[in-house]
Amino acid sequence: MMNLTLKDLYTKFRDPKTINTLKELIYKEAKKLKEPLRVMEICGGHTHTIMKYGIKDLLPENITFIHGPGCPVCIMPKERIDHAITLAKQEGIILATLGDMIRVPGSNSSLAKVRAEGADVRPLHSTLDVLKIAKENPNKKVVFFAIGFETTTPMTAALMDRAFKEGIKNIYYHINHVLVPPPMRAILDSGEAKINAFIGPSHVSVITGAKVYKFLAEEYNTPVVVAGFEPVDVLESILMLVRQKVNNESKVEIQYKRSVTWDGNIVAQKLIDKYLEVRNSFRWRGLGDIPKSALKLKKKFSEYDAEILYKDILPNEPIDDHKMCICGDILKGIASPLDCKVFGTACTPTNPLGSCMVSDEGACNAYYRYKR
Ligand code: SF4
Ligand code: SF4
Repeated sequence: MMNLTLKDLYTKFRDPKTINTLKELIYKEAKKLKEPLRVMEICGGHTHTIMKYGIKDLLPENITFIHGPGCPVCIMPKERIDHAITLAKQEGIILATLGDMIRVPGSNSSLAKVRAEGADVRPLHSTLDVLKIAKENPNKKVVFFAIGFETTTPMTAALMDRAFKEGIKNIYYHINHVLVPPPMRAILDSGEAKINAFIGPSHVSVITGAKVYKFLAEEYNTPVVVAGFEPVDVLESILMLVRQKVNNESKVEIQYKRSVTWDGNIVAQKLIDKYLEVRNSFRWRGLGDIPKSALKLKKKFSEYDAEILYKDILPNEPIDDHKMCICGDILKGIASPLDCKVFGTACTPTNPLGSCMVSDEGACNAYYRYKR
């Protein structure tokens, strides 16, 4: 049997010859474009690839990237970060959350700061670690502050499933799972960012399937190509978008066929549906209130809903970003990190003023790493 290494799997997607061939094909086809192609990559992972491999600089002048709101950390409004901080400060609560969330600044603190001051905040490697924390601390309430797009939502549903099956009663949920298609619609409806094509997210689409972008092609005449994360994936997706434009088409295509299907992961979709439902509205940083753009616990689980249980102490009014921070405009696609006056000086990944500098998927963070 052949022993494949991880490197064998990704090498062909970073092959310089293939990249060059794709570049030449894009140049040839792009000459036929009647108007410039302005592509929004929704996913922060794609922003990272575009910056890391210099893909922006490989393309002809009539193709530009506009970075979208594709990082769940970046789009979380300050008041919800304050929810997490408020909960963490309560006596008897352990606040558990994934990844970069603990470094994101709220209105005047962060989970990392309150943790240093004595609050019990547990950064998680895996959502299911919450089960262990709850079992080890039966006299405490463990609040899972759940964030993420459709990618991580199945893990929250799986946690609930396991907790209920195992009879664990001291886990509570603060749900901040957001949905990708509604902000895509909101961005096109606002007309502020002049976008005429989308690169669709990868992991999200593994769960949802590419079908969720159909409305963009049909109602907005805007092509979508769901792309993988490697440079060859992104370039091939650009070529597919250019060809659609040249042929006057708008359809949803899947470049990332090795993982994404039209219908997505039905098992995961059913699990989510068992525990979560769509909220009427959710406030996005920069984009404001977007109807039906996030999930919440279903009513029958409201006794485990931390947002309901602690509603009297959780702030609800919108809180403005730091006055120098233009994260909101970046997420709307109308500014670039380089337009920010404090980029790389007062705001860096070790001392972030705004959320877009915190996570690897944030546009400011990607520019800081690869384009200073
Ligand atoms: S979770 Fe994955 S697909 Fe979704 S925005 Fe982040 S990197 Fe992109
Ligand atoms: S560089 Fe910092 S302050 Fe400027 S927009 Fe980005 S996150 Fe905000």
